[in-house]
Amino acid sequence: MKRLWTLFLLSLLVGLLVACDDTASQNNAVDVSERQINVVATIGMITDIVENIGGERVDVTGLMGPGIDPHLYTASEGDVTRLREADIVFYNGLHLEAQMANVLERMNESGSRTVAVTDGIEREILLAPPEFQGAYDPHVWFDVSMWMSAVETVRDALIELDPASAEIYQQNAEAYLSELQELHEYVQEQAETVPEQKRVLVTAHDAFNYFGRAYGFEVRGLQGISTAAEASTADVQNLARFIAEREIPAVFIESSVPQRNIEAVQAAVRSEGFDVSIGGELFSDAMGNPGTPEGTYIGMVRHNIDIIVSALLATE
Ligand SMILES: [Zn+2]
Repeated sequence: MKRLWTLFLLSLLVGLLVACDDTASQNNAVDVSERQINVVATIGMITDIVENIGGERVDVTGLMGPGIDPHLYTASEGDVTRLREADIVFYNGLHLEAQMANVLERMNESGSRTVAVTDGIEREILLAPPEFQGAYDPHVWFDVSMWMSAVETVRDALIELDPASAEIYQQNAEAYLSELQELHEYVQEQAETVPEQKRVLVTAHDAFNYFGRAYGFEVRGLQGISTAAEASTADVQNLARFIAEREIPAVFIESSVPQRNIEAVQAAVRSEGFDVSIGGELFSDAMGNPGTPEGTYIGMVRHNIDIIVSALLATE
C-alpha cells in the first residue's frame, strides 16, 4: 500500500514537471515579431536601458518609480500579474531586489524569461565587502563602464527573444553605448577637478563603492550595502568623528533613503565641534521624476557628479 502511494505521488510529480516544462517551451517559442514586446523591469535605470535599446519594439513597465528603495520593495498583487504577463522581465540581481527574490525565482522555475542584467559582469570585478558576508555589492550602475555590460545583456536578451528585429537592437545599443562611454569620461574628468585628498563621499547608505573605485573617491555610507539594517547610534558617532577629523565639507542625502539619517550625522558632527553641510540630494538606487533630466540614467549620473564636485569644492 505504501509503495502504491509512493508511486502515485511520483507520477503526480512527473505530471507536474511535464506541465511546467510545457509552459517553458511555450514561452520560449512565443512569436513577438508581429507585435510589441511586453517588458517588465524593476529599477528605473534598467527601465531606461530597455527603452533605449527596445525603442518602438517594446512596451516597458517599470515597477520602481522615483524615490523607491529597491532593497525594501515588495511586489504588489498587480506587480505579480504584470510580471506573469510579461514576455521578458529584467532585474538587477546580486540581491538588490531582495524582497522580490521569491517571486523572481518562482517565475524562473516556471520557465518565464527573467534576466538579471548584471549576469554578464565578470565576478572577479564585482566588489564583495567583508561586512556583506560573502555577497556582492549590487550597486554596479555607478561605474558607468560596468553598466555598459548591463546594456549588452539587455540587447542580447531582446535579440534572442525577437531575432527578426535584431538589427534595431544592435543599432540602438551601439548608439546608447557610445553615449555611456562619453558619460564615463565626463564623470572621470569632473572627478579629477577635486583634489585627491578631498575626494571623500559620505552618503546615507553604501551605494557608491563602485563609483568610488571607478572615479577615485573614498566612500563612506551610514547604513550598509542594503538599507534593510538600521544604522546604530555607534555608526552615527563613528561616521561623525571621521567627518570631523578629516574636515570633510559636505555629506549627501539620497532620494530613496529617509533624510533624517544623514541629518543625525550632521548633528553629531556639530557636537564634535565641526560643521558639515548637506551638499545636496543624490540619486542612488532610484532615478528622478520622469520628464526631468534626472529621470534618465545619464541625467542622474551627471546630476550626482555635478552636485558632488560643486559641494566638495565649495570651500576651496
Ligand atoms: Zn542600495
